[in-house]
Amino acid sequence: MRYENKVVIVTGAGSGNGRSIALRFLEEGAKVVAADLNLAGAEETVSLAADPSRGLAFKADVTSKQDVEQMVAAAIETFGGLDVLVNNAGIVAFTPFLELSEEEWDKVHNVNLKAPFLCSQAAAKVMIESKTAGRIINITSVEAHRIVSSSGHCQPHYNSSKGGLNLLTKAVALELAPYGITVNSVAPGVVATPFTEKGLQNPEVKQWVLDRVPVGRVAVPDDIANAVLFLAQPESEYITGTTVFVDGGWTIA
Ligand code: NAD
Repeated sequence: MRYENKVVIVTGAGSGNGRSIALRFLEEGAKVVAADLNLAGAEETVSLAADPSRGLAFKADVTSKQDVEQMVAAAIETFGGLDVLVNNAGIVAFTPFLELSEEEWDKVHNVNLKAPFLCSQAAAKVMIESKTAGRIINITSVEAHRIVSSSGHCQPHYNSSKGGLNLLTKAVALELAPYGITVNSVAPGVVATPFTEKGLQNPEVKQWVLDRVPVGRVAVPDDIANAVLFLAQPESEYITGTTVFVDGGWTIA
């Protein structure tokens, strides 16, 4: 098994992409901290594994420095180290620019951009101390690279948070390269998760998406998880500061 004896933290592991990422690592032998604000969701994720004893459901608000430090400490206390961090927790809200409140702006940036900063810094410190050739993988979006407007208006706060995370990935990759730690992004297109469920139930929105995706289908969470596992493997040590688009060709069409 590719990830036997590796310790992985996945944030937002109680649903959608995060659940699939956590389960794929568990299938491949890793020990996984499935962290989420929604503890019941994280517990359900762990319970779905063939061997739930290698999973730890952990309640954390990743926008809280204290919670993040406790999450990293839990990985070390429970499983003895930390090899891989996946910054997956993210939120979106479809609010037109002129109606966007300061509170909503802050909330989206706190989860999508500040949390990966807090988690990456805490994880990198323990990886460096333990001389671990760690992997940090950030889940961004095609919306870090282009503006998507299926409903007539955009999501400027989401775009700026994910665009910021794209550049944070590159800057941190540069700083951590001397320690053998790689930092990369996975940028999904549209994935069928609770995040997009409502939109995809509308046939017009679904067709709008399919018209833009050359491979002709909406992504499933395992498409995202497979890219994350590729970047996390030891053989990917020369890949850093880059983005793997998992968008069915959307951004090249
Ligand atoms: P989801 O809503 O199904 O899951 C997100 C999870 O994050 C939830 O379990 C939620 O409880 C958790 N979470 C939210 N705030 C948190 C916090 N403060 N602390 C800890 N956990 C928190 O969404 P998803 O579709 O699985 O999205 C996962 C990631 O993929 C996000 O970063 C999202 O931006 C990205 N993404 C999704 C799509 C898509 O089409 N679904 C496309 C591009 C990018």
